[in-house]
This record gives sequence, C-alpha cells and structure tokens, in this order.
Amino acid sequence: MTEPTEFSGFGLSETRLAAVEAQGWTQPTSIQRQAIPLVMSGRDVVGIARTGTGKTGAFMLPALERLAEGGGLQVLVLCPTRELAQQVRDDTDALALGTGIRSTVVCGGVAYGPQVDAFKRGDEVIVATPGRLIDLQNRGTAKLKSVRFLILDEADRMLDMGFRPQIEEVVRGLGKRPQTLLFSATMPNAVHDLALRMTRDPAWVEVTPSGTLAQGISEIAYSVRPDMKPSLLIHLLGQPGWEQVLVFTRTKIGADTLKSRLDSARISSDVIHSDRHMRHRTRAIDRFTAGEVRVLVATDIAQRGLDIEGISHVVNYDVPLDPGDYVHRTGRTGRAGATGEAVTFVTAADLGAFRTLEHQLERRLDKVHHPDYDFAGGAVLERREPVRKRSRSGRGMGSQAGKRLEPDELAALLSHDTPGRKR
Ligand code: AMP
Repeated sequence: MTEPTEFSGFGLSETRLAAVEAQGWTQPTSIQRQAIPLVMSGRDVVGIARTGTGKTGAFMLPALERLAEGGGLQVLVLCPTRELAQQVRDDTDALALGTGIRSTVVCGGVAYGPQVDAFKRGDEVIVATPGRLIDLQNRGTAKLKSVRFLILDEADRMLDMGFRPQIEEVVRGLGKRPQTLLFSATMPNAVHDLALRMTRDPAWVEVTPSGTLAQGISEIAYSVRPDMKPSLLIHLLGQPGWEQVLVFTRTKIGADTLKSRLDSARISSDVIHSDRHMRHRTRAIDRFTAGEVRVLVATDIAQRGLDIEGISHVVNYDVPLDPGDYVHRTGRTGRAGATGEAVTFVTAADLGAFRTLEHQLERRLDKVHHPDYDFAGGAVLERREPVRKRSRSGRGMGSQAGKRLEPDELAALLSHDTPGRKR
C-alpha cells in the first residue's frame, strides 16, 4: 500500500492539519487513506463506506483544500436527511477551522430566510437535501453554476427515498461538470448505475469489514485498470513473501500474453492451458513444484486436477465467474498450516461479476486500491507528493517526475525491483 498513513502525507495545508489535530484525529481512517489522495489529484471517486468510517473527512478535507476562499459556492453536498446534512455541516465547520470558509445546511422543515442568505452571501459549502434545494433552484435563489465539487452522500439511502429524479434535476442546474464523489454504504445496481452516470472514470474505493476467512488464508481484491494488470502483478511479485505464485487467467491468449510480459520482466514462468500438450503441462507443473519457475499461469480449464502444494499466492488475474472455481483456486494456497494469500484483480468492468461472486461466497473480500495501478500509467507522476520508495533496492519513482511513463515502461521500471530472484 502506498497510501499515506499520516495526515501529513496528503499534501494538506498547515491550517487543515491543525484543524484535524484540533478534532483529535491522529491517524487517517482507511477510507481517508484511500480517498484523500484521489480527490486531491482531481479524480472522481466512488466510495463504498458506511457512516462511521470517517467518510466525511475523506471527501471534505481535500475539497476544502482545493476550494478558493471567497470564491462563492463551490462545494455542494447532497444528503438524504436533515440530520445527516447537519452532521456533515458540523464536520465541515470543524475542518474549515482557521479559515473564513462558510457552510450552510439547506433542507426542508425550516425557514427559507437563512438559506436564501447563504446563497446571496456566496457561502463556499452548501450541504443540502434534494427537495429544498430544488425548491430554491426553482425560485431562482439557488444558483449552482459555480459548483466545482459535487458530493453525493449516502447515495443508497437517497435512492431508497426516491430522490433520483431530484438528484438528476439538481445536476442539470450545475455549470461545468464538477469533480464528483459518491459515497454509499451499499452498491446495489441502482446505485451502481447512478455512480456510472454521475462520475467520469471514477476510482472505486471500499471499506468493508472482512468476512470469515479460511484459516491461514487472506483474501484480497485489488481494483485495477485493465492495462495495468501486468504491472500490478509484477509489482506484487517483487513484494516479500511472494514465492511460488499460481496465476489464473480466463483465456488462453490472456495466459500467453501475460507470460510474455513476465519474460520481459525477467520473471521465470510457465503456462498451462488446453492448447498445450499434456506432456508439456505435466512438465510445467513439475518445474513449478520443484521451484524451477516462480510463476505458473493457468487457465480455468487447466486448473482441474492441478494438485500443487505449498503455494504462497494464488492470483485471480481475471475475476472467476464461478464461485466453485474461486474456492478451488483459493484452496491451493495456505495448505498444511502454511499461510497464503489469494489475490483477485477487479477492473471496473468486472464489478458486477465480482459483486455476484461475493454474494455467492457470502463473504466480503478485503479491498485494496493501489493508486499507481488504478490510475493511468503516468498518473504516478502527476501526484503532488513524491512517490514513496517502493522496494528494498531504494529505487523510488519520484525522480521520474514530469516524464510520462507508458504502462510498458512502468513495468520495465518495476522489473528492476525484482532482480534477486535466482532460479
Ligand atoms: P463519518 O463516517 O464521516 O460520519 O465519521 C464518523 C466519526 O468518526 C465522526 O465522529 C468523525 O468525527 C470521526 N472521525 C473521522 N475521521 C477520524 C479520524 N481519522 N480519527 C478519529 N476519528 C475520526
């Protein structure tokens, strides 16, 4: 994980850090570690996190950091209820400590006057429930053209309450497309649709309590851009403890392509799939079991009858479509009391399949978002903070600042981090 573990690592101003300290927050929560760098970098974010995880700080700290004091309304938060709106506003005030930034709640059931004043005054932050906001929009009071951040909080509850048309109407009143952040405790299809409609190329982050795990096995899901999968795998192969690794791909072509990428990164590997002669498959398995190759890439078909012990890691390079396959694969790691890790790569396009898988497994996997691989290939370099050192070799990537790396170059660069694998 390259997410900062301290508030000081996010590039927030001294004023903001002082406000965080005044709140008594010593360490960022998981959703804050994941989301703050993304929001700071300008990305749209879809966050699956319930109230109590620190999500308000996750969106409001970077939003406050990026708005211009005195620049009129810039941050619009939509909430399902008056109570939540009030709470978000209280947190906003606390986090805006030491600045002149003003925030106001706009909701039904209370007098119009102060809400109208807030728009006239140009309060930078408005936290609103959709009904009253539209009311004020229709009266010509709520002018939303200057909004630069749109935050949809507790999106699942807003949809449950039937606010979808109101949300759409509010959005129609906005000017230039704002940076959009959507938070929801759950991600049913309706929320997923809304997220896709409201955001552009969003980063998905998630905080969930992990379900019951098979003993000794940890299960992790990485959200990853499809073209960054090889780079992410190569990166992981450079991590301590990644010894014998079994990788499953959905297609034969995928398996062969991955093998070429591993070859270029000078990582020893072999491939088994149904186009390969049985003799070759047996030999590949033997070499893998004997530790002559580190990585065995296999397709779904080839996994049947595979009986290999002592694997440190299983990687589902593509999300398995069948929970039975998932369970079989995962069972190959961590045998005989050994610990193991099962890692699944999830792209935005896999999200539906992945949710179905989790549903069928009746447990949630731990989610990891690694900004270097969830981002575009060059995004590592667009970050404000120098990228943290990534390996024992001490070869950080901060020195590449200003140069855009293609995914291939990134993979090549990362491959330098895995030189000591002698087989
Ligand atoms: P939220 O999920 O945003 O409603 O936050 C839940 C509670 O956690 C609120 O009372 C916050 O003040 C508190 N909180 C948020 N972030 C942190 C943090 N990093 N450390 C300690 N408490 C926090």
